[in-house]
Amino acid sequence: MSSSSWLFSLALFVLGAALAVPANAQSRNPVYWDVHDTTRAQPPVVDPGPVPDAPQPPPSDAVVLFNGGSLDAWEHPDGSTPSWIVRNGYFEVKPGSGDLQTKRGFGDVQLHLEWMVPASVEGEKQSRGNSGVYLMGTYEVQILDSHNNSTYPDGQAAAIYGQYPPLVNATRPQGKWQTYDIVFRRPHFDEDGDVVTPARMTVYHNGVLVQDHAELTGPTAWKDRPSYERHASRLPLLLQDHGNPVRFRNVWVRDLE
Ligand code: MG
Repeated sequence: MSSSSWLFSLALFVLGAALAVPANAQSRNPVYWDVHDTTRAQPPVVDPGPVPDAPQPPPSDAVVLFNGGSLDAWEHPDGSTPSWIVRNGYFEVKPGSGDLQTKRGFGDVQLHLEWMVPASVEGEKQSRGNSGVYLMGTYEVQILDSHNNSTYPDGQAAAIYGQYPPLVNATRPQGKWQTYDIVFRRPHFDEDGDVVTPARMTVYHNGVLVQDHAELTGPTAWKDRPSYERHASRLPLLLQDHGNPVRFRNVWVRDLE
């Protein structure tokens, strides 16, 4: 082979390797997008089917965080007793009372929770049925009424807030129970506090895959993409009071640490 044809082959190889990066994976990477970028594509709408007749029971090794009774596993971040409302087997955000977090800390988990936004449609965009579940109190999977409610894609229901829109919009209509099943792998840090392994999340919304082993850029935030900061290996799970009366039931985790 002459040196020029060898160089040509090498160039073809390099070009081929570059093209082999899946366009789809590349287009989902947050580094290519501004936080809350409105030019990102809206995820396609998928009908997840009807609400199952009965909630999915927790497996035998689950830590049950709410089974329809008390909020004993929870507190406000200042340590005070939850003032959210418990009624008819669910609990509901009491707007203005503040977030709720688990008394116990968790790192790697499988989390199941069910949520519902009010049947009456009030507000729009980020002001309609907004709450959120924060793994380690730091990494938010958005809860929002995203049924016929357009907002920035990285802030709709099942988004990893400000980073990854869901792969599809599998949101049920207002007043219907919805499920999140989340596999969360926490970040790991070295002695200097630098991140060695970033956090990862896989999320199913109403049984539909919406986040596929997504690598987080750091904590989730509004209009910001902060860098990782070293934290403990176990921190409370947190539910957000965003001023809307979102309901929750059947909350359990499997500790994967
Ligand atoms: Mg939220």
